[in-house]
Amino acid sequence: MASNESIETLVQDALPWIVEIRRDLHRHPEKSGGETRTSAIVAERLAGLGVEVRTGYYGTGVVGVIRGEKPGRTVGLRFDMDALEMDELTDHDFRSTVPGMMHACGHDGHTAMGLGAAKVLTAMRDRLHGTVKLIFQPAEEDAMTGGGAQYMIRDGALEDPRVDCMVGMHLWPDQDLGVVGTKPGAMMAGSDPFIITVEGKGGHASLPHRAIDPIYIGSQIVSALQSIVSRNVDPFEQAVVTVGTFKGGSRYNVIPQTATIEGTVRSFDEGVRMLVRDRLIAIAEKTAEALGGRAVVDYRLTYPPLINDERTYEKVKACIRAELGDGGYAEVGRPAPGGEDFAFFAKAVPSAFTFLGYRRPGEEPVQPHNPRYDFDERALGYGVRVLVRCALELGKGEGA
Ligand SMILES: [Zn+2]
Ligand SMILES: [Zn+2]
Repeated sequence: MASNESIETLVQDALPWIVEIRRDLHRHPEKSGGETRTSAIVAERLAGLGVEVRTGYYGTGVVGVIRGEKPGRTVGLRFDMDALEMDELTDHDFRSTVPGMMHACGHDGHTAMGLGAAKVLTAMRDRLHGTVKLIFQPAEEDAMTGGGAQYMIRDGALEDPRVDCMVGMHLWPDQDLGVVGTKPGAMMAGSDPFIITVEGKGGHASLPHRAIDPIYIGSQIVSALQSIVSRNVDPFEQAVVTVGTFKGGSRYNVIPQTATIEGTVRSFDEGVRMLVRDRLIAIAEKTAEALGGRAVVDYRLTYPPLINDERTYEKVKACIRAELGDGGYAEVGRPAPGGEDFAFFAKAVPSAFTFLGYRRPGEEPVQPHNPRYDFDERALGYGVRVLVRCALELGKGEGA
């Protein structure tokens, strides 16, 4: 294969193939943890390209290993494969054929980009330093079970050879088509749900002195939780504590036995994340105790804040500029409040996460998780070019 061709030319040639795969995946969306068809297609396409294929990571996870002809580091590229449980309302001829399931977050595009990167990189082995590991993960959308990323790591996706650094990419509405953005430090929020069960003692509404009122205790807890961000978090850091539900009672004249409070915490720093958790648990437990009841807190640390490594960020930024020109790079101003389980990879190895723009000039892009979600497929070409460039450049140097 003529390997003196530019990345742009190779990607341009591969783009129809990438789009065809994306549309096929789009027609057949699969839920988090159930990506069996997608996983089989990934494995089959990788094998067809002569890529070493490893399967069975957290069920449907797949790792493709491409070895370059030159010595170097091991670079990981990550792609998520799952769809969302919702009906699709687009008019595409490639719209979902599965009722109640839709690729509404662009993971079909991500997976197709991973295969596109494999196709281009296998044609460039003579120019490739070190090893590229293409990591296709299940269950990114399933924060309640902890997400697929941490279980891919548990199952060895980052070993043999050990991954030295990683790059992740997500299709992004708030950025122009042809532009890829990133930033140093916090890129996306840590997202942790909590459930507080307040136990009191039920009784007659007219005899509160013989009861312990969980509604009164719960309302004191909700008020006191407001002090965490205002009194405990450093004013130059950020966090969100939101109570989304407060349930208790069955009748106007009965003091209930229990009340339940549910909410979510967002944070952009691991220290702040732990501070908020510790304060929240203490406030709930001690407030309940002071008022004669008891609070049990189910606090779930799900997705940590996604923190980009400074050096990897610098290298990835240089790759984006080299591949797409200075106008093809956008510094992301502030972290996004959503969660993303790439954060687990970024905690395990130096990493950078990037946003791949698909907004067309003058058009309001449809946001992810919307039944009319759609993106301009030309974005996939820009994305693969940047990922291939990152694989080539970050692979140079000494391995771990
Ligand atoms: Zn999503
Ligand atoms: Zn997503």
